[in-house]
Amino acid sequence: MQQPELLAPAGNLEKLRTALLYGADAVYVGVPGLSLRGTSAEMSLEDLALGVSEAHTQHVRVYAAINTFARKADLDQAARCLPDWAATGVDALIVSDPGLVRLARRRVPQVPLHLSTQSNTTNAEAVRFWQDQGVSRIILARELPLCEVGEIAAAVPSMELEIFIHGAMCMAYSGRCYLSAWRNRKSANSGDCTQPCRWEYRLSESTRPDDPLVLEEDDRFSYLLSSKDLCLLEHLPEVLASGVAGVKIEGRMKSSYYLAVVTRTYRQALDALCLHQETYRCDPNWMEELKTVSHRGYTTGFAFAEEKINESSPAIKNIQTHEPAGMVVGYDDVRKQLRMAVRNFLQAGEDMELLLTKETLPVDTRSMTDEEGNGIDRAHAGNLIRVPLPFPAPKGALLRKKTAGAKTQGPARKPAENG
Ligand code: SF4
Repeated sequence: MQQPELLAPAGNLEKLRTALLYGADAVYVGVPGLSLRGTSAEMSLEDLALGVSEAHTQHVRVYAAINTFARKADLDQAARCLPDWAATGVDALIVSDPGLVRLARRRVPQVPLHLSTQSNTTNAEAVRFWQDQGVSRIILARELPLCEVGEIAAAVPSMELEIFIHGAMCMAYSGRCYLSAWRNRKSANSGDCTQPCRWEYRLSESTRPDDPLVLEEDDRFSYLLSSKDLCLLEHLPEVLASGVAGVKIEGRMKSSYYLAVVTRTYRQALDALCLHQETYRCDPNWMEELKTVSHRGYTTGFAFAEEKINESSPAIKNIQTHEPAGMVVGYDDVRKQLRMAVRNFLQAGEDMELLLTKETLPVDTRSMTDEEGNGIDRAHAGNLIRVPLPFPAPKGALLRKKTAGAKTQGPARKPAENG
């Protein structure tokens, strides 16, 4: 069984480094400058070049997404920018627009092209069509059952295929939706969806505006617009058996903490599966880990069901059991103290955990200090503090706070940091 490439999202340089630390084989990033829209999921050219350089030293590949459906101005901009993007050393460009495919083939023929899931490729003939256009990998439609993924892989073995295995699902065909552009001026077509399908909506009758009907789920009804999140962790043997070359985690706008937990979990599961194929079992602790980050309930999506629409969430609120506490910025060898940048309110004595690549360790917060060594009983986001730790931890490692039981939070109006 060939181990597929584990791809993690990297909305910025910090997240790229997080993905490297927690075991991604490849990262995908947004490229700067297309149509000057400037989305929050893009890196600057300088950060991209630095990120590519750092990734390559660890033998991790970087794919740059320009998966917008381009208008003329976008194409003109792309024609100017393609050589700059290529010069950063990215390993492939992820595109969806046929015009951009053709343009990239002419302007930067040395850079491989991957076709975005937003092109909704669902059959072997479409795969052959894109192969004829010079595409070397296709990220298949999320709406495709795994059995058909396997059939396509068998029918066109010369094409690398990739699928999403984790993350948010659309209620529209992937990304072909104007809800975010309409409600938030952030376009899914630019990879910048703010997921307003997950907000709480009310339906009101025009003569009774103060008596709205809340669109929520009970035993008989479901939210009209919101899907649970995709999770194929418990089905990795079937995923690998389908013959895909890459498995992808969704979420360039998710937090570093979310990225750390999800990437680490899939890394551990894939490694275990490939090492012990015969005896492999999905460790229940992995699933529990995925429940620690903000999600809306998990579903296998379309993987095992034909013509099945996405399940809506039984609860309108996001679910999580832990939240980010901070990030390691250094280690004081003399005082045996971990230096951390706080990302949340933190109280002395509160449970905190350090996420290492292969394990999670408790960290004592009872005697935390500021950078000058003064004891403190609380810290706030943005503070630099120290906590005792007998061994060094890697810079960029994430720390989290335990919360008592499952925690819910309001509608995801700002999904960028909902990890
Ligand atoms: S608003 Fe929802 S359905 Fe629309 S593109 Fe965004 S995630 Fe998909």
